Amino acid sequence: MPVERKHEMGAGGDCICPKCETRIAHEQGVLCQETHCPSCGAKMLREGSEHYRRWKNKQSGGTERLIFDTGRSSARGARNPEARPMARSTLSLVSRLLPRRLRGLAPTVVADDRGGRMVFLIECLLNQNARDRGAARSPAAERELVDLLLDAGVGLVQMPCPETYCLGFERKRAPGQSLRQALEAEQPAACCRHLATIAARRIQTYLEQGYEVIAILGGNVQSPGCAVHIDGGGGTRLTGRPGVFMQALSDELARHDTHIPFHRIRDADPDLLRRDIQWLREQLGRDRKPQQV
Ligand code: SF4
Repeated sequence: MPVERKHEMGAGGDCICPKCETRIAHEQGVLCQETHCPSCGAKMLREGSEHYRRWKNKQSGGTERLIFDTGRSSARGARNPEARPMARSTLSLVSRLLPRRLRGLAPTVVADDRGGRMVFLIECLLNQNARDRGAARSPAAERELVDLLLDAGVGLVQMPCPETYCLGFERKRAPGQSLRQALEAEQPAACCRHLATIAARRIQTYLEQGYEVIAILGGNVQSPGCAVHIDGGGGTRLTGRPGVFMQALSDELARHDTHIPFHRIRDADPDLLRRDIQWLREQLGRDRKPQQV
């Protein structure tokens, strides 16, 4: 017997997280509201549904936020109808008053105090509790890194830990199997690719909206999931034997012809950590134009 549809959204489309705006492909037969966001765990919404419309409406409501509509649609056509009634002259005046790096931005950039720059970084740099036994270097987070980024007005986007997400918190594996071997097995490797797809999509969404993604920050060189090996500083392609997740992320970005510098924060060694922090400090000092796609 055919299943009665309660909506006209069809079988495809996406589920959107109302909390962090992560987007994943809708799985036919599974309600988006029964799906938890892979990034933050919140319940997701079906794009185009009534709940989704109400969320978008609430999100764009309020008189203090100015929403720009330059007439350019985002990749998935998510223009905000609330922005349209605003007079073009007002938009152009506010646009001229914006910092240079935020001018001419895509449809939904809000004119407020945001800096428009961010890094994507692995979970344990902000939450050492994700680390395997014996690997944590501090009680909470890599403070020097966090302070540096916050002082520079740079947002921190945390990517989920591939080991705990794909192997479970205990990092379950067969006796004698290394963590690297466990992550390279069929299902965990597919799980890493899934996480990489989500991270790459989030990066692209920010780029499409005119934001700057300064770098992707990975982990120590021996990390099975997040090691970053690069030639010189901040290569946009990985070399050597990167972590399983990092390799998947690099592949996914390459597939979309997206070029973001990879780097690593090697906190297992104080000298290397100092060098990595210095590299980042130099990147933050550069006056770059926003990356647009
Ligand atoms: S897998 Fe990555 S995020 Fe998880 S603890 Fe290891 S380095 Fe950190």
